[in-house]
Amino acid sequence: MTHTHIPSTHDVAIAGAGPVGLFLACELALAGCTVLVLERAATPDSPFKQLPFGMRGLSSTSVEALDRRGLLDELEVPQRVADPHSRPPGPVARRQAGHFAGIPFHAEDIDAARWQRPPASTPTSLLAEMAELEAVLERRAGTLGVHIVRDTTVTGFDETAQGLVVHTTTGSIAAQWLVGCDGARSAVRRAAGIDFAGTEPEFTGCTALVDLAGAPLEPGRNVTERGMYFQSQPGYVMLQDFDGGAWHDSGEPVTRERLQQVLRKIAGIDVMVKHVHRATTWTDRARQAATYRKGRVLLVGDAAHIHSPLGGQGLNLGLGDALNLGWKLAATIRGAAPPGLLDTYHTERHPIGARVLDWSRAQVVLMRPAPAERALREIVASLVGTRDGSTYVAGRVWGIHTRIDVGCDHPLAGRSAPNFVSQNGATLATALRDGRGVLVDAGGDEALAAWAHAHRDQVHYMMSPNPPGVRAALVRPDGIVAWATDDAVDAAAFHAAAARWFV
Ligand SMILES: Cc1cc2nc3c(=O)[nH]c(=O)nc-3n(C[C@H](O)[C@H](O)[C@H](O)COP(=O)(O)OP(=O)(O)OC[C@H]3O[C@@H](n4cnc5c(N)ncnc54)[C@H](O)[C@@H]3O)c2cc1C
Repeated sequence: MTHTHIPSTHDVAIAGAGPVGLFLACELALAGCTVLVLERAATPDSPFKQLPFGMRGLSSTSVEALDRRGLLDELEVPQRVADPHSRPPGPVARRQAGHFAGIPFHAEDIDAARWQRPPASTPTSLLAEMAELEAVLERRAGTLGVHIVRDTTVTGFDETAQGLVVHTTTGSIAAQWLVGCDGARSAVRRAAGIDFAGTEPEFTGCTALVDLAGAPLEPGRNVTERGMYFQSQPGYVMLQDFDGGAWHDSGEPVTRERLQQVLRKIAGIDVMVKHVHRATTWTDRARQAATYRKGRVLLVGDAAHIHSPLGGQGLNLGLGDALNLGWKLAATIRGAAPPGLLDTYHTERHPIGARVLDWSRAQVVLMRPAPAERALREIVASLVGTRDGSTYVAGRVWGIHTRIDVGCDHPLAGRSAPNFVSQNGATLATALRDGRGVLVDAGGDEALAAWAHAHRDQVHYMMSPNPPGVRAALVRPDGIVAWATDDAVDAAAFHAAAARWFV
C-alpha cells in the first residue's frame, strides 16, 4: 500500500517527530529539501511531555540555535535558569544554576569571563516544556512545507538503485535519504544493522506524580545509604534505586505497591503511596551508535546515543546533532557539498556524544550509595563549590566548552560564533535565520567581498565595523566559526578554508 495524500518521493524521510526529528525537518526544509516525517504516535499530546514530567533544561548551544532560527521568541516565556550574565544588582540569594551528580553549582560562583569564547547574547540555559517545544517546531515545520504523517511506524527499509524504500505500518514510501530520529529503541538503527554498544545500568530511576501519606518525605534532594530521592514539589518524586536497572528492564509497570516499597527502602521511613497518577522509569544505560551514517541512512538524537538524564543533556545533544547535520545533508542533496562534507557529521558529533556519555557515567559513580563513593563525593563537592570548579562544570553542562576541529587554529574557530553586529545594526543571529552561512568582514576586503558575492546563495556578507577580536570570520549555517583571522586576510588561505564547507 502507498500513501496517496502525499508526494510519492521525498529527498528525506525522517522516522520520529520528537523534538530532534522536528528540528531536523525544519533545518532541511529551510534549506530547500522535501521532507516527510513519519511518527508512530497518533497524537502529539503525551502527558510525559507536559509539566511536570516534560520540563527540559535547554543549554546555551540549544538556546542559541533556536534564536538563530527565530524560534526562541515563539516559546512562551521560557523560564530562565540562573544566568551569570544577568545578575540583578545588589545582594541576592545564591541561585542554583545546575548540578553535577546532584552536587549543586551556583550562578554567583561562575566566572563567565574565563570561558574560551565570548559570552552568547542569549541566556546560558532555559527551562522549556517538551510539548511546547515540539508544538513550536511542528508549527514551523508546517510553514516550511514538511509533511508529517502520524500513527505510522517505520519498520525497515530497502536500498534501491534510485535511493530507498522506507517500510511503515501503513505502507511503503520512496525517499533519497532516511534519518532515524526515532529515539532510544530506533527501528532505523536496527534495520541498518548499526552497532549500539556501551555500558549497562547501575540503577533504575523513577519519576512519579503521586499522592503521599504517612511519614513525610523531605523536600529537595536526599541522598541516603540506599539510594537517592528528590521531591521538587509535593507529590512529584524522582528516585534512584541502585538495582542494576532490574526494575526498569523487567518492564514491570510502576504500581503503588512497588513504588512504596522502593521509596521506603531508600528513604528509610514509613511513607505511604496512596495513589500513582503517572510514573515512568529510566536507567543510566549509556550506549552510542558505532557510526552515525551508513550509506543513505543517518542517526540523530536518542537514536544515536542514550545515557542517564543526569544533568539533562540528551535533548541538547540531539538538537546539536540536527543543527550539524541539516545543512550538510541539504547541501549534499542539492549537489552543493564539497567532497566529504556529509561525513563530517559523524566525525564532529560522535566525539561530542561520547564526551556526554562519559560525563553521565562519571556522575553515576559519585552517586553510588557506598562509603568510598560518598567520600569521593565530599571531595568533588568541595571542588565544584570553588570558582574554578563551578565555572568548569557549568561550561561542560551548558556545552560552552564544545569545540569542533575545523582545521583552523584561531581561538574562535570550531566554536559557536559571537553575535557579530553589522554596520547597519543587524546581528549574526538574524542573518542566520534563513539557513545560510555568514562571512563577517571588518575591513571591506575585496577578495572576501568577491567570494561572498559568488557564493551568495549559500552565504551572507556582513560588514561588521567592530567584530569582537577578529578581522574576518566565516560562520557556517550552524553558527560554528569555520575560519577566522586577526590579521590582514590571506586570500589563498581563506579560499582553502572556505572550500572545506562551501562550493
Ligand atoms: C526523566 C528525563 C529527564 C530528562 N531531562 C532532560 C533535560 O533536562 N535536558 C535534556 O537535554 N534532555 C533531557 N532528557 C533527555 C531528552 O528527553 C531526550 O534526549 C530527547 O527527548 C530525545 O529526543 P529525540 O527526538 O531524539 O527522541 P524522542 O524524544 O524519544 O522522540 C522519538 C520519537 O520517535 C517516535 N518513534 C519511535 N519509534 C518510531 C518508529 N519506529 N517509527 C516512527 N516513529 C517512531 C516516538 O514516538 C517519538 O515521538 C531527559 C530524559 C528523561 C527520561
